[in-house]
Amino acid sequence: MLKVTPVLCRAGQMDNYAYLLEDVATKTVAVLDVSEAEPVINECEKQGVTPKFIFTTHHHFDHVEGNLTIKEKYGAKIVGAEADSFRIAGMDIMLKDGDNFKLGDSVAHILSADGHTIGHILWYFEKDKILFTGDVLFNLCIGGLFEGTAEQMWNTLEKIKKLPDDVVFYPGHEYTIYGFHNLHGLPGERYIEKAKKRLAQGLPVAPVSLGEEKICNPYLSADSFAEFCKLV
Ligand code: ZN
Ligand code: FE
Repeated sequence: MLKVTPVLCRAGQMDNYAYLLEDVATKTVAVLDVSEAEPVINECEKQGVTPKFIFTTHHHFDHVEGNLTIKEKYGAKIVGAEADSFRIAGMDIMLKDGDNFKLGDSVAHILSADGHTIGHILWYFEKDKILFTGDVLFNLCIGGLFEGTAEQMWNTLEKIKKLPDDVVFYPGHEYTIYGFHNLHGLPGERYIEKAKKRLAQGLPVAPVSLGEEKICNPYLSADSFAEFCKLV
């Protein structure tokens, strides 16, 4: 079983989420997308854990800037995409599409996810039904096309759409409010109601199931590439 703790970073500015991942059976811990070190260290101390790995989804500074501090403090190994290895400092373990990576007894399946950047990866814990989407998929919206094309992003979203509906996802930012205006129809209204409640309590909107996201997120519900292109 995988225990996930979101850690809000750059609060009020970019509202990034780093995550603490613990394989409960073996108490092996990783941190994912360490936007800044301090809030992540605070959470590790609060839980009394030592991260063994630093997972990354992509090279952007707001997802890696705390990496080296955590690496130095805990001796953790930085794990990311081979394609990003030339621009993520201190990378120790390089992965590519289709690889599996073990965190204790939990296994992450690596999915390449070009679009927001080239070399972006998704961390999919198939057995635990948990997906970390970085800056590819947010609640009700998607990441901007910084390096990839609309077609690459569409192909990445197609890959996500094929995953089971009961998989829940954890995004790289709390951007749900930006997605609110995209919505129409009843499912979206229910989504907003729940999301607003979570945000009012200072909680992340995640985790939301892919099943719900596929219905409510207009970028996922677009049923053709042409329709998708009207949105990006
Ligand atoms: Zn990014
Ligand atoms: Fe980001």
